[in-house]
Amino acid sequence: MISLVVPAYNEEDGIEELHRRVRNASPAWGEDWELVVVDDGSRDRTLEILEGLAATDPRVKVVSLSRNFGHQPAVTAGLNHATGSIVCVMDADLQDPPEELLPFIEKIREGYDVVYAIRTKRKEGLLKRLAYYTYYRALKRLATLDIPLDAGDFCVMRGEVVDAINSLPERNRFVRGLRTWVGFRQTGLAYERAARYAGEPKYTLRKLLGLASDGIVNFSYRPLQAIMLVGFFVGLIAVALGLVVLSQYLWNFAIAGYNPREARGWTSLILVLLFSSAVQLFCLGILGVYLGRLFEETKRRPVYLVKKRIGVAAPAPD
Ligand code: UDP
Ligand code: MG
Repeated sequence: MISLVVPAYNEEDGIEELHRRVRNASPAWGEDWELVVVDDGSRDRTLEILEGLAATDPRVKVVSLSRNFGHQPAVTAGLNHATGSIVCVMDADLQDPPEELLPFIEKIREGYDVVYAIRTKRKEGLLKRLAYYTYYRALKRLATLDIPLDAGDFCVMRGEVVDAINSLPERNRFVRGLRTWVGFRQTGLAYERAARYAGEPKYTLRKLLGLASDGIVNFSYRPLQAIMLVGFFVGLIAVALGLVVLSQYLWNFAIAGYNPREARGWTSLILVLLFSSAVQLFCLGILGVYLGRLFEETKRRPVYLVKKRIGVAAPAPD
C-alpha cells in the first residue's frame, strides 16, 4: 500500500481538490493507497471537511493535532501513523502535484529506498526564490551531512526508511535532514513546483526562518567552530593593535596623525569596543541557540499531541 502523508494547516479551500486529484492520479500507481492528512490544529473548516471526506472514503485517514505544532511536527505525526510499504510526503496546497508521483514510485520499485524531489522551477517571488537558493547552498556548506540541494520534504520513501526516521529520538525535527541522515539508497528526481492551489502560504516568515535555522543548527557544529575561529582571529588583531599602540606610547610617535599620548583615540576606542562586543554577543548568541536546543531535547516532551484520529490506529510505542 502507498501512504500519502499530508500536513494541513488551514487548508479548507484546497483539501477536497487534493483528495480529488489524488483519486484521479491513483489508478496509475497500481496499488492500494491511503491519504493520511494531519490537521495541524487548523482554525478553519479543515477538520470538518476532512471528517466529511473520511466518512465517504475510508482511504482518507485523519490525525488531528491538539494545536498548531508546525509543519515539521505535523509531518512527523503523519510518518508515525502511515502504514504503507511506500510512503510519500507532500504538501496539502498541491504545490507537489499528485500527478507527478508516478516516476517517484517507479524509482522505489526499481530498488531505491528514498526518492526526494528536487525543485527546479518555483512559482514564487524573486526574493523568496533567491532566499531559498542561497539558503540551500549555505546549508550544504555548513551541514556536517550531505543534505541534497533544493530538496524539500516532498519525497517517496520505502516503509523501512520511515521506520528508521520514526525511531530517531530527537524532538526537534528537521525531516529532510533526518531523511538524509538515515542513509539507504537515495536519489533525487527533478520536478516543477507548482503554485499554491488555494489560500495563502501557511508558513509565516518567522516559521520559515525557524525552519532555516533548525536545518543548520540541527545538522552542523560549524557555527560553534566558527565562533572559536572568529574569537581567535579577533584576538590576534587585538594583540597586534595593542602592541602598536603600546610602542607608539612608549616611543612617542604618530601613525596617520594619531599619537596616543595626545589621547585623541576616543573614536578608535569606541569603534574597537563596539566591534568586539558585537562579536562577543554574536558568539554568545550562537552558544545560546545550541544551549536552547539541548534544553529542548532534555525536556523530552512529545513532538506533538493528537486530539482525534479517524481511520488510523495510534502508532505502537517504540
Ligand atoms: N503547514 C502545517 N503547519 C504549519 C504551517 C504549514 O501543517 O504550521 C502545512 C501547510 O498546510 C502545507 C505545508 O505545511 O500543506 C506547506 O506549507 P506552505 O504551503 O505554507 O509552505 P510553502 O509551500 O510556502 O513552503
Ligand atoms: Mg506551499
